[in-house]
Amino acid sequence: SMASPALLMRVVASAYSVAEKAATIVRNVMSAGDLGIVEKAGPNDLQTKADRLVQMSICASLAHKFPKVTIIGEEELPTDDVTEDLIEDGHCEEILKKPCPAQYTGIKEEELVIWVDPLDGTKEYTEGLLDHVTILIGIAYGGKAIAGVINQPYYNYEAGANAVLGRTIWGVLGMGAFGFQLTEAPAGKHIVVTTRSHSSALVNECISALNPDAVIRVGGAGNKIIQLIEGKASAYVFASPGCKKWDTCAPEAILHAVGGKITDIHGNPFQYNKEVKHMNSAGVLATLRNYDYYASRIPNTVKESLVP
Ligand code: AMP
Ligand code: MG
Ligand code: MG
Repeated sequence: SMASPALLMRVVASAYSVAEKAATIVRNVMSAGDLGIVEKAGPNDLQTKADRLVQMSICASLAHKFPKVTIIGEEELPTDDVTEDLIEDGHCEEILKKPCPAQYTGIKEEELVIWVDPLDGTKEYTEGLLDHVTILIGIAYGGKAIAGVINQPYYNYEAGANAVLGRTIWGVLGMGAFGFQLTEAPAGKHIVVTTRSHSSALVNECISALNPDAVIRVGGAGNKIIQLIEGKASAYVFASPGCKKWDTCAPEAILHAVGGKITDIHGNPFQYNKEVKHMNSAGVLATLRNYDYYASRIPNTVKESLVP
């Protein structure tokens, strides 16, 4: 008889379904029309009813199935009982059928850390830039991002009524990433993607120094990694603190699964063990290809301003 699927594959298969449930919540809150916006640190750091409900849904659903896994979500919420309607119990059968990479077959629940961004691109969500929004579930082992799910609830929302709304991208190191068409950015062009709502003098100084052919300003860390793997941009450059571990964990796993690279602006890899500080204080530099081209052109003045 078949051995039961490895824990990692069961977690990814569940995270896939949990993220689809989350996408439904994100769309329902928007169509109901009351976003319940709360300012966290300030007007550029928002939380909506969708951020709150989705975090409760994801964290409670995964904790219910995998009680010994450490789950760290972005939002600080009262520890009220989560209502039954927020719990997703399903999993993606197709993921469960795939063999787990050999180096991960022995992983135990207590060795996994799941980083949850219930709604990445909240500012853009409140402004109606709906396809900037993603739901991020990143899975770390030994301090490394090894698997991830990115759901884009409004993928295709401007493509007409016949287009299927929303998609789920997932990946595991050593296995690859699925749910999208891997595409290289235009050869010989330097297209930088960066923040639209969290710019600063340093962010702009760093981009200018790269002398790009084009700059794309869009919301969301998840969305910007999608720009890289679909060939819309050649580098994600963010010379600022502000991104957190839940912003980068799932995107990192997917980008690395297809041969890309993400680090801080100095070239240091991110760590995702449960004790790590949440802030990515030294910014973000990510590419699908040609990482060294960009890394070698980050000015020292920028590096000196961003302490890891
Ligand atoms: P952005 O590229 O501006 O959409 O940022 C990517 C992620 O990092 C989002 O989750 C933002 O909320 C977060 N982030 C970036 N900069 C800041 C900041 N200055 N304050 C709060 N959150 C930030
Ligand atoms: Mg975020
Ligand atoms: Mg968020």
